[in-house]
Amino acid sequence: MRARIAACFGTTRRGTWVTAEAESSVDAGRRDVLKALAGAAMLAGGGGAWRRACAADDEKLTAGALRGGLTLITGAGGNVVLLTTPAGAIQVDSGSPERAQDLARLVAERSGSPPARTLFNTHWHLDHTGGNEAAAPTGTPIVAHENTRLWMTTKFYVEWEDRYYQRRPKAAWPNKTFFSSDPQPLFVDVGKTRVEYAHLPEAHTDGDIYVRFPEQNVIVAGGAVTASRYPVLDYITGGWIGGLADATKKLIALCDAETLVVPDVGPVQRRADLEAQKEMLETVRQRIEAIALQGRGVQDMIAEGVTKEFDARYAGDSKLFISNAYEGLWWSRLRGIVA
Ligand SMILES: [Zn+2]
Repeated sequence: MRARIAACFGTTRRGTWVTAEAESSVDAGRRDVLKALAGAAMLAGGGGAWRRACAADDEKLTAGALRGGLTLITGAGGNVVLLTTPAGAIQVDSGSPERAQDLARLVAERSGSPPARTLFNTHWHLDHTGGNEAAAPTGTPIVAHENTRLWMTTKFYVEWEDRYYQRRPKAAWPNKTFFSSDPQPLFVDVGKTRVEYAHLPEAHTDGDIYVRFPEQNVIVAGGAVTASRYPVLDYITGGWIGGLADATKKLIALCDAETLVVPDVGPVQRRADLEAQKEMLETVRQRIEAIALQGRGVQDMIAEGVTKEFDARYAGDSKLFISNAYEGLWWSRLRGIVA
């Protein structure tokens, strides 16, 4: 069955395939685990693990200076970064829909109006794009990878959250996208300030980008870096553990000891934190792959504690992390190899 699914599967739009096709007993077991995990996620937050990982909806918006005209805004869902210059403002991510108006007001206070000259989306998740309409009035460039635009313009089902996502209103869609094959990094200039960005393929999702402010030595990593919490591997939209390890390595190569890395949510990280994340991802990947290649499944991985020495450092649901790592590994690399 898995070989047959793999044969059918050839695109990143994999959301509906999984439940429609998975019928074998092995897959049924896998599905039960996912269902249980998704159920737990729904009970706990009603909106998915990545949302639970983020700030509560009633958390206060807080703006703190980072460096050289950069501000980190927390409490809007995912982290939001704002660069204000005399020539205009650049905003990275737009928080959750629930905080969109509050965030837009705060950004306007700090940057003057209009609110942003360019808005970046690090990936499609609602806690990073939920305020796009409020943050980017008509005509504002919204920069993202093309895969992010594709997810935002489509209705699809995310198995591990047991949740449907609706097509987003057109005003929220990224309108300045790039493809993986484009020469990178790409740049946006605002006045004399240059902002760099590039794709991090198949990491947290298939549309992750980093946004780097070279003058300030600050990198906004979106979902590719987490602060003391297991990363979310959203395999339904193209994330997988090996891609996230590669993304982490790519970011480490851009860091020195002074670099500030803004994670998905939570406090700013340093190069050493990224090195720890890379080590964790590579170790867990190796263990999961070894068990999968023996024809064993996610319950064995959880039972064998493939994350055990990392659980003290990384909060969050290690079972969901393991399960999503396995799923992403299977879809991305093992395909029909595992029985
Ligand atoms: Zn995310």
